[in-house]
Amino acid sequence: MPRQTYRGGYIVSTYTYSAGPGMLPKEVMQEIQQHLLTFEYEGVSILETSHRSEAFQHVVDSLEVRLRRLMGIPRHYAVLWLQGGATLQFSMIPMNLSRCNRFAYVDTGVWSKKAMEDARRFGEVEVIQPISDEADGMSFDSRSAQDVDYLHVTLNNTIEGTRFTNIPEMDIPLVADASSNILAEKIDVERFGVIYAGAQKNIGPAGLTVVIIRRDLIQSLSLPSYLSYASHEDKLLNTPATFSMFTAERVLKWIEDRGGVEAMERLNRKKSEVVYSFLDRSNHFSSLVSGNRRSLTNIPFTTGDSEGDAAFQRFALERGLVELGGHRSVGGLRASLYNSMPLAGAVRLVDVMREFEEETYVSHQNI
Ligand code: PMP
Repeated sequence: MPRQTYRGGYIVSTYTYSAGPGMLPKEVMQEIQQHLLTFEYEGVSILETSHRSEAFQHVVDSLEVRLRRLMGIPRHYAVLWLQGGATLQFSMIPMNLSRCNRFAYVDTGVWSKKAMEDARRFGEVEVIQPISDEADGMSFDSRSAQDVDYLHVTLNNTIEGTRFTNIPEMDIPLVADASSNILAEKIDVERFGVIYAGAQKNIGPAGLTVVIIRRDLIQSLSLPSYLSYASHEDKLLNTPATFSMFTAERVLKWIEDRGGVEAMERLNRKKSEVVYSFLDRSNHFSSLVSGNRRSLTNIPFTTGDSEGDAAFQRFALERGLVELGGHRSVGGLRASLYNSMPLAGAVRLVDVMREFEEETYVSHQNI
């Protein structure tokens, strides 16, 4: 459900296309508003509730139960709720999974490069190029990684707007950065040794990171306590991001109430299709990615030049469409359509692009 704001004397619906922190369901935000003053029956706010209280333990339990149900996570996987973002996982993964200190990374863009840069501090990194084409989407050659502790993939590339469509079977553990597609499309958990994600796109507010790890990969190593997965298995080691966890639990309920991940994926396919099909037909806007490797959640696009892109961003903002700029490393435009974005938000974006085309290009031709 969109929010509304006054702009230029009119009430307009606002949508945020931010790549993260992303849009949250309005219903969830209204609900948590009440808990800001009194949470449960104790007369205290969720913000001042102890993470060791019985009431908060219910939140933690329910959060885990819901995530396990939504993603089909079996008992032989542990679910860890950490802080430090996906970025801290870039180093916790090589630190915790190292045996022979050789790791393989599929290079699909900015975030995968950042992940491998951190891994290089802990061992040797073998870089694998993806196989990517319009018809078959994106994959990699499973024979390219030999004698490594794990192979790392970024399932959805938030900046480049691409996604893996095929992950080959491997004997070594697969590690997946699912920061921008977790709960937005089905992920077969048992194909992976580790799946990690920052929460701030599809799970809840910033400050929370989830790590789903096959228990046999958790080693007792001599690491600082926070940095060791073993310290977090089935317990809260220290004070977690309580408010983010509380909100995430409500978001997961919201997803379950709406039919779970399958329903989210169906809707995400529909939303992205609305935008891609406009971009494919437009004479003025174009998509930066083609074919089956297109992301369902992050759509980079352009008018063809930076002035046009900036003009469209201003035009859209005046109409209540927020955060349509591309990532600072690549520029251009980008629309992120995470789970909380309704279909109406994708339709509204296309309407505003069409309006911009008419005002900017058609009316100029008539002068
Ligand atoms: N990986 C991916 C795919 C991302 O999109 C992001 C953030 N946009 C990160 C990692 C880094 O996440 P964080 O900011 O939570 O450290």
